[in-house]
Amino acid sequence: MTAIAEKTEFDATPESNPRDALWPNYNPPKELVFSHGIGSEVFDEQGNAYLDFLSGIAVTSFGHAHPHLVKALRDQSEKLWHLSNVFRIPEGELLAKRLVENSFADSVFFANSGTEGAEAGIKAIRGYQAAKGNTRRTRIIGLTESFHGRTLAALAAAGNQAQMKGFIPTDYGFDQVQWGDFDALKNAVTDETAGIVFETVQGEGGIRPITQEFVSQVRKLCDDLDLVLMFDEVQCGIGRSGKLFAYEHYNVTPDVMVLAKGLGGGFPIGACLTTAKVGNSMVFGSHGSTFGGNPLAMAVGNAVMDLLLEPNLLTEVSRKGEFLQSELKRLTEEFPDIVESVHGLGLMIGLKCVVPNTDVLVKLREHHMIVGKSGSNMIRLLPPLNMSDEDIAKGVKIMSSVLQELRAK
Ligand SMILES: *Cc1c(COP(=O)(O)O)cnc(C)c1O
Repeated sequence: MTAIAEKTEFDATPESNPRDALWPNYNPPKELVFSHGIGSEVFDEQGNAYLDFLSGIAVTSFGHAHPHLVKALRDQSEKLWHLSNVFRIPEGELLAKRLVENSFADSVFFANSGTEGAEAGIKAIRGYQAAKGNTRRTRIIGLTESFHGRTLAALAAAGNQAQMKGFIPTDYGFDQVQWGDFDALKNAVTDETAGIVFETVQGEGGIRPITQEFVSQVRKLCDDLDLVLMFDEVQCGIGRSGKLFAYEHYNVTPDVMVLAKGLGGGFPIGACLTTAKVGNSMVFGSHGSTFGGNPLAMAVGNAVMDLLLEPNLLTEVSRKGEFLQSELKRLTEEFPDIVESVHGLGLMIGLKCVVPNTDVLVKLREHHMIVGKSGSNMIRLLPPLNMSDEDIAKGVKIMSSVLQELRAK
C-alpha cells in the first residue's frame, strides 16, 4: 500500500491567524497551545507544565492519558468503531446495566453530549405525559441561572436570556422560576405542566448546591401532581460531588437524570437515565442517535466506571474536596480584599472573587494553573477526582502567590 499523505502541520504564530477558518464563537488565548497531558498536568508546545484544575470542565475526571482509559480506547479501536443502533452493542448494554445498578434508574438512553442527554430527558418528560393521555401537559419548569446545554430546547429550559437571544422564539414551552423559591415554583405549576428540571448542583451559573428543603418539597409536589422530576447531573454527577451522583446527598431521587462530561473521561458521551415509568414511554422509534452509544464511547464509559467504583475512590474525593475547600477558606481569610467565599460539594468548588474573576483566572494561567470561571464572579475548580494531595497543595500555593500579587497591584 502506498503511504497516505498526512497534513498535520499547525502554525501557531500570531501572524498565521490560526483560527480564521473557525467560527468566532470561542476565544481561546492565542499563543497558548497544549500538545499533551499526563495525569493532572498538561504541557504546552515549549514543554511547560500546567496544573489542570479544570479537567476540560469536569470531563477528564481521571486526568490526562490515564492508562486504564487509554487501554480501553485502544483495545476497542482495534475491534469495532461503529455499527449504529440497528445492531446490539454489548459494551453499551453493560454500561447501562452498571449505571442502573448504581442509581435510582431502571433504563438508559445514550447520547453524545450533555445537551443531547438533556434533550432526550425533555422528550421523555413530554413522552411520559403523552403516553398517559395528558396531551395538554407539555410545559416544563426550570430554575434561573441554570445551564442545560446549547441546543434549542436545552437553552429554553435554562431560560438564560443572553444565550437565547436571536435563537429562541418567546415561548418554546418552558417557564422559569427563581432558583430555590418553592412557592414561586408551586405557583407556576398549571394544568399544562409536564415536569420540572434543574441541576442538583448548579455549575455554569455559580457553584450552588440545591437546598435540601427545596428538593424535598419539589419531590413531594411532583408525586402529588404526577409531574416528572429531572435532575441535570452533567457536571455534578459521576463522583464529582463526593458521591457517585449528587442527588445521593439529599435522600431524594429524580425520575430522569442527565449525565455526560465525566462519564467519558474525555471521550464524548451523554446519557439519560430514567425510572421504568418514564423510560417505558420512549417506545420503539420515539428517539434515536446515529452515534449515541457507539462502541468506542461505551468501552471508555465502562473503563471510567471501573475507576469510579474502586473502593475508596468516592471517600477520597470527599476528603480531598474538604481539604481543598478548607485551604481555600483560609485564603479567603488571608485575602478578603481579593476572594470572599468558598462554595460547592466534593471537588466541584467555586471561589467567589471580590476583584473580577477574569483577573484571577488570567494571573493563575500565567503561573501555569488552569481554572475556570462561573457565574456570580466565581473561579471554578474542577480538578481530576484522582488528583494527588501534593498537586492540590501545589495549586493552593500557586493560588496564594497569585492572590498576593493581585493585592500588590
Ligand atoms: C456542560 C453542561 C451541559 C451541556 O453539556 P454539553 O456536552 O456541552 O452539551 C448541560 N448541563 C450541565 C449542568 C452542564 O454543566
